[in-house]
Amino acid sequence: MVLLALSLLLLSGCSQIPKDPVPESSASPEPAQQTKPPAEQQQPDSTHPSGEVGEAGEAGNQAPEKDPVSSPPSDDQKPESTPPAPQKSAEALWMAVGDIMMHMPQLPGAYNEKTKTYNFEGFFKQVKPILEQGDWTLANLETPIAGKSLGYSGFPRFNAPTELGDALKYAGFTTVTTANNHALDRGAKGIDLTLEKLEKLGFETKGTARSKAEADRIVLAKRKGIAMGLLAYTYGTNGIPLPKGQPYAVSLIDEAKIISDIQKLRNAGADFIAVVLHFGVEYQTQPNDAQKTLARKLIAAGADIIAGAHPHVVQPYEMVEATNPDGTVRKGLIIYSMGNFISNQRGDSKDYGVIYKVKIHKDGATGRTTLKDVEAIPTWVHRTRNNGATQYAIVPLQQAIEAKSLKNLGASDYSDLKRMYSQLMKRIKSMSGQPFKLTG
Ligand SMILES: [Zn+2]
Repeated sequence: MVLLALSLLLLSGCSQIPKDPVPESSASPEPAQQTKPPAEQQQPDSTHPSGEVGEAGEAGNQAPEKDPVSSPPSDDQKPESTPPAPQKSAEALWMAVGDIMMHMPQLPGAYNEKTKTYNFEGFFKQVKPILEQGDWTLANLETPIAGKSLGYSGFPRFNAPTELGDALKYAGFTTVTTANNHALDRGAKGIDLTLEKLEKLGFETKGTARSKAEADRIVLAKRKGIAMGLLAYTYGTNGIPLPKGQPYAVSLIDEAKIISDIQKLRNAGADFIAVVLHFGVEYQTQPNDAQKTLARKLIAAGADIIAGAHPHVVQPYEMVEATNPDGTVRKGLIIYSMGNFISNQRGDSKDYGVIYKVKIHKDGATGRTTLKDVEAIPTWVHRTRNNGATQYAIVPLQQAIEAKSLKNLGASDYSDLKRMYSQLMKRIKSMSGQPFKLTG
């Protein structure tokens, strides 16, 4: 009962809810105070609520000067004890992309000799206008960003400059998941430093943790009156064992655990649930049976969107129909793999990715959420040489083909891109005929 009341209190203003809220004075590992400058807090009606900015505006019942993440609930945030009046219908845009990778050749072109810092904004400049449309925009960060102190490296054990985090913020991402096979490439220290940086930047995160409490915390990201529950898991960590005494460090795929986590999110008030899964087999362009079985089971268990990645190539999406206990039908979306969003991998479509856009509609009368207008926007990593270093830029494929504005590309390059675009669209839509009907 007490726990339920606390959850409700926190729900009114929090995007990341610690399961067991701690008093402000205790040693919280979350130094989130500096993440939201006062100026941002004063723009509650921003159409693009990056991080938690937009939430302060839409809920309307909390004091904006308070930090919604780290402050304990206060009396003025208490919801009414009577049932809330029927709400207005709401709509918000959910977006996601695939793997954010950092191979060593991606570094030199982003380095500034004078300031001795990196700037990766160029990777994202051309897709920023699309990513910024999302109320939630998710990325899978497939490398620690533990910075120089732990040494930079690419495959097979990655570690990237912390500036990659800044570039993700610049690009318009709001939410970064970290459960993937490279999560432990710099051990527990790498996880600490990565989460510290992401937290400073105000991202919602899920998938790795510095404590049991952090691993167990409920992540509800509220936008325009709609609460997304977020979960993230990986099939493994490339054989690197979980740090001693820290089995919570990386969330591993465990069907029963995921189903119980979905239930917890529902009970905590999630309007829809996105489960980010790092799974599948590298370079396979179609999902295997294990992916299909797991993803469909999770939709049946109450997940609404499965956002997959890891194969480094794009795999299709499919709609799934599940019947609720009351007989109504709920539609879920499974995206099997979104490919590489940014990487140095080339050939066999490894240099292509996809941005997904899904409208989330919440009906005011029933409180039910539905998914609408699934849109897949294929992207390509364009590379150019500049002063001996390679520059990388993610480009929206169709736009690039139409504008023919990319440097150093000739007519035959454009016809290759055109061919790849239609091949990718065909692949992406190859399972999008009749919705898959879950039985039993
Ligand atoms: Zn992976």
